[in-house]
Amino acid sequence: MPDELDSNTIRIRMYRVGFGDCFLVSLPLTGDAGFRHILVDCGVHGKGNIGTMDEVVDNIGTITDKKLAIVIATHAHQDHISGFNPEKFGKFQIGEVWMPWTEDPKDAKAATLKKKHVALAAQLNDHFEAQAFSGARVSKSRAAAAAAVANLVANKTSLQALHSGFGVDARVRFLKAGDSLQSGDVPGLSLKVLGPPTDEKFLAKMDPPAGHSYLRLDGNRVESANQLRPFSSKWEIKPTDSDLQNLRLSEAERKRIKDEVASDSLDGLAFALDKAINNTSVVTLFAFRGQVLLFPGDAQYGNWEAWLQQSDAADILSSVTFLKVAHHGSVNATPKDALEQMSPGKFAAMVSTQSTPWPSIPRGPLMDRLKQQTKNKTIRSDSLAIKDIKAPKGPVVSKLPSGFVKGDFWYDYFIKL
Ligand SMILES: [Zn+2]
Repeated sequence: MPDELDSNTIRIRMYRVGFGDCFLVSLPLTGDAGFRHILVDCGVHGKGNIGTMDEVVDNIGTITDKKLAIVIATHAHQDHISGFNPEKFGKFQIGEVWMPWTEDPKDAKAATLKKKHVALAAQLNDHFEAQAFSGARVSKSRAAAAAAVANLVANKTSLQALHSGFGVDARVRFLKAGDSLQSGDVPGLSLKVLGPPTDEKFLAKMDPPAGHSYLRLDGNRVESANQLRPFSSKWEIKPTDSDLQNLRLSEAERKRIKDEVASDSLDGLAFALDKAINNTSVVTLFAFRGQVLLFPGDAQYGNWEAWLQQSDAADILSSVTFLKVAHHGSVNATPKDALEQMSPGKFAAMVSTQSTPWPSIPRGPLMDRLKQQTKNKTIRSDSLAIKDIKAPKGPVVSKLPSGFVKGDFWYDYFIKL
């Protein structure tokens, strides 16, 4: 088993950042011409930050000699882009920066969508912060909703850095489903972009229909979430007084219901907005010397569904040899349809995750199924203990599966070509 790079080995490094994603893919050139490096996301959620990001970026600089062929920012969430510090990355040599089409300032549809997202997020964030400031007790659901919104605001510096190509002449591209690219700078690499779709109908589909996720052990909890329509006026509708009168409740009960409904609809909106941004994730399929690596960002069902319907989806899925598990292993980011079509034992999986700030992540049944499908070649970032760092603990791994190697604050997966 290889444990260092050579001209016949791919290395995928998953950094432990806390709740976030930072993956470095290193591809060998033929002979002793060295390596090309691709960075897929670099961010951590403010409420799930374990304080390793500075060291992570320094490590990326050291092992790549500050040369990155491609930087991919899958979507505009803090936990994927907050580490793109312009000062640090401004000292790198960067070939290309890729973002989803929804970030393209020249695309009218993207600009409208983005304006709406930003305005909604700001409004929600103000509301949640005011509540936190007032010292009022907040429900678990409200805290989770507030964490979802916090993930979306205050990303300006990183976004500007990405849009400007880090001020180092990197070529900035905006990608959509159906694009396929050859990278001149990485001989032998071809890329297929599977998402995000451009059709708003898909972006609006936030949750899987019954039977498509690993959520329901007991049948039918998901439907209420399906009714969320983030861009409609649904969330603004409050029960009218006459509606409440008809219920013949006491004044105090009426007030409680009214408050609860209002607050639920706000939480619902926050979660729906979170999913909408996740669904803008660039989904990239790398093909390199017979290996097929799938990086779906935080794509949730609406994004996956668009390409799962296509005729080549089964071929693509069965050929995958490495999977970056989407959205930290959450409930509806790895459709059953997709995972069941991957070839058992033929692929390995990495999950960058921890259960702070969202205790429902990662989803247990999904983690179990991943282990079965990969024949145990699945690793979670939170199973790694880091010296002098206090961090939420995932399951202890006594023996790493073959191909995986533990580092100071990362896991490597080596693929022999
Ligand atoms: Zn994320």
